[in-house]
Amino acid sequence: MEPSAVPRQVHTFREEYRAQAIGPGYRGWAHFAFTSLVCLGGITLALGRVEGVRAWELLGVPCMVVLANGVEFLGHRGPMHHSRRGLRRLFERHTAQHHRFFTHEAMAYESSRDFKMVLFPPVLLLFFLGAIATPLAALCFLLISANAGWLFLATALGYYLAYEWVHFSTHLPRDHWSARLPFVRFLRRHHQVHHDQSRMGRHNFNITFPLGDALCGTWWREKREQRRPAG
Ligand SMILES: [Zn+2]
Ligand SMILES: [Zn+2]
Repeated sequence: MEPSAVPRQVHTFREEYRAQAIGPGYRGWAHFAFTSLVCLGGITLALGRVEGVRAWELLGVPCMVVLANGVEFLGHRGPMHHSRRGLRRLFERHTAQHHRFFTHEAMAYESSRDFKMVLFPPVLLLFFLGAIATPLAALCFLLISANAGWLFLATALGYYLAYEWVHFSTHLPRDHWSARLPFVRFLRRHHQVHHDQSRMGRHNFNITFPLGDALCGTWWREKREQRRPAG
């Protein structure tokens, strides 16, 4: 699927991006650890506060996961692929940078310094935690129940981390052991199709699991494509 040689155009873009945007002090594994530990710490803290949980409160968790999948789908199909006022940096970082740094022919990072182009910036996690997840969790806490609030916070952070880990796994080297796990292999292929520049604006916007793509008809399927080539 993925040739070992990185196409010249991608190689040139990578070299320029690394020189301009990845400072000498950047540590990819520290970035990965920060994202993972903040999310896992928040999840542990929130779940530790849940007491005497009732069935209907637990039922809220799968509902939130489905909702989060919709947000992931719409955010990716919308502002990450279409420049919108106030969200231009998101478009730049995703379409103009991530999609040129990684194409379907060159999906793997070359060193841990390339993690900067895979993971969301730490400041985005802090913004998500402080300006979105915590206020919404507080609303659930006040309007529904204390458990609903803590479960909301744990689920929101869990979904954020799942997105980061799955996306990270799709950009691991081809021979990484995790690529042999069926579910990871499926998601890698799903995301690889999205990295084909002729398809990125129309197909496979989900990263974690392709519910939004299935419901909105944007899931690219090889057989259908073979019957009717994309125009
Ligand atoms: Zn990607
Ligand atoms: Zn994309």
